[in-house]
Order: sequence, then structure tokens, then C-alpha cells
Amino acid sequence: MRSLVASDRSSRHRARLAGLLLVSCALCPAPSLAAQIRDLRLTNIAGGTRLEVGLSDSVTDAIFTLDHPSRVVLDLKPATLDRQLRLPAPQGLVHQLRVGPRDGGGLRIVLEVDRQVVARRLPPVAGDRRLVLELTAGEPARAAASSPASTPAPAAAVVMTPTAPRTLPAARDLVIAVDAGHGGEDPGATGPDGTREKNVTLAVARVLAERINAERGMRAVLTRDGDYFVPLRERIHRARLAQADLFVSVHADAVRDPTVAGSSVYVLSARGATNEAAKWLADRENAADLVGGVSLDDKDNVLASVLLDLSQSAAMSSSMVAAEKVLTELNQIGEVRKSRVQQAGFVVLKSPDIPSLLIETAYITNPGEERRLRDEKYQARLADAILSGVRRYFRENPPPGTRLAALVAQAP
Ligand SMILES: [Zn+2]
Repeated sequence: MRSLVASDRSSRHRARLAGLLLVSCALCPAPSLAAQIRDLRLTNIAGGTRLEVGLSDSVTDAIFTLDHPSRVVLDLKPATLDRQLRLPAPQGLVHQLRVGPRDGGGLRIVLEVDRQVVARRLPPVAGDRRLVLELTAGEPARAAASSPASTPAPAAAVVMTPTAPRTLPAARDLVIAVDAGHGGEDPGATGPDGTREKNVTLAVARVLAERINAERGMRAVLTRDGDYFVPLRERIHRARLAQADLFVSVHADAVRDPTVAGSSVYVLSARGATNEAAKWLADRENAADLVGGVSLDDKDNVLASVLLDLSQSAAMSSSMVAAEKVLTELNQIGEVRKSRVQQAGFVVLKSPDIPSLLIETAYITNPGEERRLRDEKYQARLADAILSGVRRYFRENPPPGTRLAALVAQAP
């Protein structure tokens, strides 16, 4: 799954503004303090889903829809998040809800929906600061939108009319960043026979990329495709530029004891994540595009860290699930050094919003494993095992708007 507070990288540029409504609160005094979102609730109602936003004060809001994927967007201003706030789990028509900061002290709530919806804002009730939006499946009533003879919609109701063509939006391929460890002047570890880790990782990464590209609905991006040096942070950057859904780093392990053998799979440790969050927060300018596709630059510390934390913890739990699947598959083809997913502070695992794993395929310092690592057939078996794990992970957690999500939905 994508992070709860996910960046909207994949769709932002293709998004089209479908309709815009501004409701300003004429009676409220000029707000000196931002309203706080205290509660966010999604409930199923007959034929649809209801969003309730509990607010501490009045806000100006704008509601509109975006396409590819279909979303209902609610902008609130001025608004902040209660630091205790928990985002609700997806319900009914809404398969993802995220909140991101907006420039100028506002917040954006995005509801990702899997079909055309009609969104209605319920009339406010005196003394009740909740903003209630009801989404129902189906095409918006044409008459309300186009015929002058039709009865106008009640004043408090907003009928969202997506301008998307009446077909499913073009689904995108999943992108998997395949990272061959080391390279160039950084050879990595060396085996007793002189095998260099950087060559083995590149060979396995290339086969893995080929296999991924042969899968329906998946596409691979190599962070390096030759014997050259790529700094660790640059590898993360390349994955982000490619809008990767998953980052897989391929390595070979090394230790003094030549009898040690087997593969291991790593995800980022909590400590590594905390340190990284502190770094991103300290470096706000570079944190642009990190949460909700909006810079953290001018956000207050609490809000920025809440948003970052939500994004990061979602990516970390996805990483763990994917890593377990890959480890299970590696266990089928050879020895596993550690039967549980390991956690460490490896730099390449530090993307705050891309689930990331690092695979130590085998011990290059073990003579038997060194031989296997050089063997093309074994390299292919490693790539196949990694792909099987990745495939199982995505089949169980297909990101909305991807071809794979459509394929999984069609499957019996
Ligand atoms: Zn390595």
C-alpha cells in the first residue's frame, strides 16, 4: 500500500480540476487562530460513504474532484491537525484518505475513490462544527448540471461532476526501483576467489529488472546499469524521480568466518527512521514533495512531524510485509541466514515514503556461496525468488490506480 500521507507524485501532473466551489463563512469573524481538525471519520451509509470532519472552529472550505485516479478533495483554511489525530481506515467508496499541508496555513484532505462519485455536503447544523460530506456511487445527475429547466440543487448540496470521460482512468504500471549495491570505485566485499560484490549485485539486479519488465503491470528502474559509483542518497533520489512504489537493494554479505552462509533481508530500523525524520525536518527545503506533494518548508514543527511520521510509519510497515514475502521465497531456494526480517539503519532504506528493502543474497566470503553468486543460473534463481516475493506483496496490496489493481480486481 502507499503511505497514508502519500505524496501525490504519480497523478499530480495529470490531474485536472473538475469543479471548484468556495464556501466562505460570511458570519464568522476574521479568524485569528487556525481551526484544528480534531476528528476524521469515515462511515458507510446506504449506497455510499460519509466523511465527518470535526473542527474546533469555522473554516473556509473548497471541495472539488480530480481525475487519474479519481479523488474528492477538501481544502480547509486556516486549519491545523490535532497531534493526537488518527487517520481513519479506508471505508466503502474511499480506499485511501490522506491529509497534507497547504501553503498559507491550510490543510488538504484527499479521498481516493475507485469510481465516479457524487459528493454532497450536508447543511451545517447550528452549534455543530462538523463538516459532513456524503459520497454516493454513480454518475452525477446530468440535469442538475446542464439543464436550466431542472430543479436547482439545494443550497447546501454540492454535486460533484467529474469531467473525466466515462471510462476508467488509464491505469499506471507499478514501478520498482532495483538498486545494485556498490559500483565503480566502491567494489563492496570481495570473495576468497576475488569475486567482487559490485559485479554480482549488478548481474542479479539486471536479471531482476528483466523479470519485472516481463510481468504485467510492473516496470523496473535500475539505479545504476553499469560499473560506476552512485552515492547512496542519489540512489534514493533516482527512485523518487521514477516515482517508485518499492525500492529493492541487492547486496552480498561478508564476514570473516568463511563458514557463515545464507541470505538475509533488511528493512529500516525505528532508530534509523527517527534519525532520518529529524534530518528531513531540519532540512525543510529538501523535504518538498515529501508529504502530500507539498513542501514542509513553512509548516509548524508539530504539524510537519505528524505528517512525516504518518508517511514514514506507513512506508515502514509496508516494507516489513514485502520483506517477509521476499524472505519466504529466498528460503525456498537456499539457506537463510536469519529467519526473520532484520532491521538496520542502512542509508538506502531511508526513503520516508517508499517501502524499501535490502537483500543480502548470500555470503560472498563463503567459498560455496561465492561460486553460486557467480553462476548465472543461480543469479536467475535469486532474481526469480525476489520477484515472487514482490509479486505476492503487490497482489495482496495493489496500489490504487495501477494496472495490477485492475488485474487483481478482475481475477476470480
Ligand atoms: Zn553490499
